[in-house]
Amino acid sequence: MERSEAQYAQAKLAQLKGQYQVDVLADWGDGDREWKPGLWTRSELDKLHDSIALLANAMGETANFIRNLGGVTVKKSDIGTHGGEAIRHQVSLSTKGSFSAWTVVHEFAHAWDANYGWNLSRQLEKYTGGYTNPLLSYLKQLAGLSDSAFLKPENKPGRYGRRPGCNRAGYFYGDKPSGSNWAFNRIEDFAESVAMYMGWGKDNDLSSWAEARIKRYLLANGVSDKNFGVDNWADYAKLFYPDNGDYTKTKRWQFVDDLVNGRISMS
Ligand SMILES: [Zn+2]
Repeated sequence: MERSEAQYAQAKLAQLKGQYQVDVLADWGDGDREWKPGLWTRSELDKLHDSIALLANAMGETANFIRNLGGVTVKKSDIGTHGGEAIRHQVSLSTKGSFSAWTVVHEFAHAWDANYGWNLSRQLEKYTGGYTNPLLSYLKQLAGLSDSAFLKPENKPGRYGRRPGCNRAGYFYGDKPSGSNWAFNRIEDFAESVAMYMGWGKDNDLSSWAEARIKRYLLANGVSDKNFGVDNWADYAKLFYPDNGDYTKTKRWQFVDDLVNGRISMS
């Protein structure tokens, strides 16, 4: 942040606080002798605000967003290779490079879930017919039925651990998520499902990524996707590609739609 942008940034912070009860920890300002620019940029503050607005608008009134999230502090933090992290009332964005609108919605979805004791992701798991069973996952891998190495993923097409239960958590997802990998579990499933819902079939900053996540399963095995690399896409279509390519036909889309429209109790 340049000194000339400080006034704009201050107004943006006040807006985020006033509208959404979101506090951004400012890392810019007057240093001892000279201006301290920090890591935040003006365009990142705009992106943060726009992405939060997407989520809040889907929830209806801003009062719903404030109740669902219960106030959130956003900061830039050194969190290793992750793009973001979230716990109750707190979202951290990586100090390495910038972030996407998708990451903001994904992390705020975690903070929302956390604010309800991670019950929202448990509800999603149940609603979609999934379950978490580490023992069964272990046996599946032992029996050679996993698309991964034993207790770890392999870095090659068809071996990333995308099948139900073939992940660290032993998460057997139900219905059709938009994707899965070794790190997948019901908590990641919830955050990704919220982001997919916000972007799918709309014309916002999440829409092209949401579409790309589904369209990749139309590719042949071994083809390289510009966003997602090489995989045996055709083989995975039966697990992830929704009926007629319409994500609104999935149980996940329906779950988030029910949730944001108050047809599901959050606690
Ligand atoms: Zn996540």
